[in-house]
Amino acid sequence: ALNVTGLSKAFGAVQAVRGVSLEVAAGETLALIGPSGCGKSTVLRLVAGLERPDSGRVEVAGRDVTARPPEARQVGLVFQDYALFPHLSVLGNVAYGPRMRGVRRPDAEARAREVLALVELQELATRRPHQLSGGQQQRVALARALATGSGLLLLDEPLSNLDEQLRSELRADLRALFGRVGAGVLLVTHDQREALSLAGRVAVMRAGEVVQQGAAADVFARPGSAWVAAFLGWAN
Ligand code: ATP
Ligand code: MG
Repeated sequence: ALNVTGLSKAFGAVQAVRGVSLEVAAGETLALIGPSGCGKSTVLRLVAGLERPDSGRVEVAGRDVTARPPEARQVGLVFQDYALFPHLSVLGNVAYGPRMRGVRRPDAEARAREVLALVELQELATRRPHQLSGGQQQRVALARALATGSGLLLLDEPLSNLDEQLRSELRADLRALFGRVGAGVLLVTHDQREALSLAGRVAVMRAGEVVQQGAAADVFARPGSAWVAAFLGWAN
């Protein structure tokens, strides 16, 4: 689904991303973890095409999209600030992606209702974003990304504004859902339980670089360095 090679990006004097290479197969979830400011969101934005890399290459579904605009990349996104379209209803927000791809309104809306049911928001379909709580808005953003039907989902802290009960419910639902849609998922999270339960593989970033990458259970059981061990909360 995704192949990233040697991706680098600087903002002025800040080298946000340094030579990052990642692979996400179809049907696989890779969790990107690391401390605040290490470059996780920048990697997602580069993959989505919202930033241009200084060097490196992004391939989605086997196509080199490095020079392509975001709308030509076939990815579903949920960002940290999950911006929704304020003038559209919940249903309209979720149906937007399929509509843009030329799906007829009744079919797009049927698909949107299906996905809204998965995140337990079917009752709020006619509301506008400003009439929702933060957690509800986040779930709409998730539904909108799922409804695009893209082969690659980029999720930046998709559950961060939810209470613990909703998080654990959605974790279970998402795992099933990711399996069912067969998309590759690149997931940024600071929640290690979320990484372990949703992702088969984990990549740990530090100061713009991937310092360890492997099967989630292995990375958590066998940190490759003292720094990774400390980051994962291992006591000395
Ligand atoms: P967090 O966990 O806090 O969300 P992050 O790992 O997602 O952090 P990024 O948002 O990728 O971190 O930021 C990486 C670095 O790049 C930071 O030092 C940040 O200040 C800087 N940065 C990100 N975007 C920009 C920008 N548009 N202009 C200037 N600096 C930026
Ligand atoms: Mg971030």
